[in-house]
Amino acid sequence: MAVYGIDQGRKKMNLSETDKRWDLVVIGGGITGAGVFREAVRIGLKVLLVEQNDFAWGTSSRSSKMVHGGLRYLKEGRFLLTRTSVKERERLLKESPGLIEPLEILVPVYSDHGPGKQALSLGLSIYGLMAHEKQHTYFESREFTAMVPGVREDKLVGGFSFYDAQVDDARLVLRLIHEAVLAGGTALNYTQVKEILRDSKGSVCGVTLSDFETGESVEVQTGTVINATGTWAEKLHPSPKEGLHLRPLRGSHILLAADTLPLTKAISFIHPEDNRPIFATPWEGSILVGTTDMDHGQDLSYEPHISDEEFSYLLEGLNVHFPSLSISGNHCLSTLAGVRPVLSEGKLSP
Ligand SMILES: Cc1cc2nc3c(=O)[nH]c(=O)nc-3n(C[C@H](O)[C@H](O)[C@H](O)COP(=O)(O)OP(=O)(O)OC[C@H]3O[C@@H](n4cnc5c(N)ncnc54)[C@H](O)[C@@H]3O)c2cc1C
Repeated sequence: MAVYGIDQGRKKMNLSETDKRWDLVVIGGGITGAGVFREAVRIGLKVLLVEQNDFAWGTSSRSSKMVHGGLRYLKEGRFLLTRTSVKERERLLKESPGLIEPLEILVPVYSDHGPGKQALSLGLSIYGLMAHEKQHTYFESREFTAMVPGVREDKLVGGFSFYDAQVDDARLVLRLIHEAVLAGGTALNYTQVKEILRDSKGSVCGVTLSDFETGESVEVQTGTVINATGTWAEKLHPSPKEGLHLRPLRGSHILLAADTLPLTKAISFIHPEDNRPIFATPWEGSILVGTTDMDHGQDLSYEPHISDEEFSYLLEGLNVHFPSLSISGNHCLSTLAGVRPVLSEGKLSP
């Protein structure tokens, strides 16, 4: 177990050395827990964050690395949500240069499928207005193919470029935790909350912690617990609303070498099988392609991994949109899978 503290820096310690009384215990060291942790420390609370694995081990290191302004919400007519997402994206870009950077995304327009030029132009104009600047450009097919070598030219009308943002998701989690620790918070990794404790009146009064490495177990007291365990949340506490449950949906990516899919900007294309958008994004010298969306249906104690079906689905999408590149499984450098904590009232398929 590692502890981060302002005086001791980073060091290993026994659970028994941990303070026994906290204003707040945050369970889960993903982006939700890290954000809550930083804000709670900032307002002066004595806060303990605990993560059962390493920080950002869960979904928060397995994302598509995008800080969306919420273009997809716009398509669903959710203007306020899109506006909020755009504002948050702009704030994050200002607050964390170097960690959160603008991401240019290309969108091809085809005459045989996917959204047309006018619909995209309208959507991207509204999207830009929300950020108070025009952030998209249209290119004729000749210019577009010059920017995206290998892209399908048959029925290509042209394409747009617009901006969202990209983040190293795990680093963002670590930065928030680090900032909170510098401000006086305590964060423990490889420490699992086994149980949320209640007093005789049923009010929360503490948690039982267990050291993943030594098996040592202690109880700490607190009147407030935030369960930020994402997909695992119902393992610690039942859903507060009858009929509303977490539905773990797996999303997977494949990583290709940059010379297999030579992109210098991200591209979003529509998968022919289900009309979902797929992104291929330059990431750390390679190209991240995803994502899928399917019921996980596996034990959450194990690392999620891509299935053969998802692998074929992503390759199929790539080969429809980049037919001349003949991308096969042999070109895949690595894969990445995470599980979304999606609320569901019983709907069974994504
Ligand atoms: C494939 C995919 C792509 C995505 N792409 C994007 C994207 O581009 N942009 C975006 O904004 N969002 C994206 N998302 C969504 C985003 O990644 C998630 O919403 C977010 O990471 C959830 O964070 P979290 O902190 O709630 O959960 P998690 O990151 O899963 O954190 C929960 C943590 O709780 C810990 N935990 C569980 N039980 C216990 C316990 N008993 N004791 C201690 N610790 C415990 C777990 O180990 C885990 O680390 C994507 C999701 C997926 C799956």
